[in-house]
Amino acid sequence: MRKLLQRFEEGIFKFRRYYLVKCHPDYVREQLKLRRGECNRCGDCCSIAFKCHHLDGENNCDMYQKRYDACHVFPIEPRDLKYLRHRCSYYFEGEEPPCLPEILQAGSVAEKV
Ligand code: SF4
Repeated sequence: MRKLLQRFEEGIFKFRRYYLVKCHPDYVREQLKLRRGECNRCGDCCSIAFKCHHLDGENNCDMYQKRYDACHVFPIEPRDLKYLRHRCSYYFEGEEPPCLPEILQAGSVAEKV
């Protein structure tokens, strides 16, 4: 039941990101100013709620250079990281940087996502 609720919540957050990017780009720009860290290309944001069909067998995005805006700006808000704090290297102003295994430190995962 908990997993089902998580998937549901992830889906709501995902829909919210697409909505914010399309309808509130100024808000998104302001939020991104509060974002800290760098993408470590772990690929976890590509499997939120469901696994993206653009991921190949090795978690590489087949349209990375032309990926959707909502993917490009992930995470927009702290809530986007609710279930990814153990992998995603982003965090927001006022938060502690995530304590990640060395393999997931920014820049340590070669050209992925
Ligand atoms: S570090 Fe965060 S933004 Fe980058 S691929 Fe992983 S989950 Fe996505």
